Amino acid sequence: MRIETCYFCSSKIYPGHGIQFVRNDCKIFKFCRSKCHRAFKKKKNPRKVRWTKAFRKAAGKELSIDPSFEFEKRRNMPVKYNREIWTKTLDAIKRINTIKERRQGQFIMERLRKGREHEIESDVKDVQRNIALIRSPAAGLKERRAKEEAAKMDAESDEEEITYVDARELEKKLEESTMDEDYEMLKA
Ligand SMILES: [Zn+2]
Repeated sequence: MRIETCYFCSSKIYPGHGIQFVRNDCKIFKFCRSKCHRAFKKKKNPRKVRWTKAFRKAAGKELSIDPSFEFEKRRNMPVKYNREIWTKTLDAIKRINTIKERRQGQFIMERLRKGREHEIESDVKDVQRNIALIRSPAAGLKERRAKEEAAKMDAESDEEEITYVDARELEKKLEESTMDEDYEMLKA
């Protein structure tokens, strides 16, 4: 007895369940329920149907690369019955299942955490963009205007002083140079 996996949705098929289709090139397709069988007959691609495991793995919604999937490989090695091996494998199956579940849960929580970060980021952006809806742009306008005017006045007075000083110095220099020139002219 073997627990098979569905060709379409990759769920488990327990003995006595589902349906099997053998193509004329001897490839065997097993389906867990008529839903999957019908989708296969309609030639749907399981990677493009959102409710299948294949889609979820391809879209990065579920753990797809993990060493725990090695255990699911099909091995056609006949093993002689041995009660000890049988009990050990049963224990191992339970252990592997717990480990696998924990890893998958971790992966999903990590994915959700990333989504939450994106959400917070977009919220902050939204608030910054539409700040006018929360705080009126007219609020504190008078104060801001008074401040701006004061700043302007300061800047203007500073500039004036500087230009004034500069002009005086320039005048002095010019006068000196002309005086020197006059002297030279007189000497000549
Ligand atoms: Zn299925």
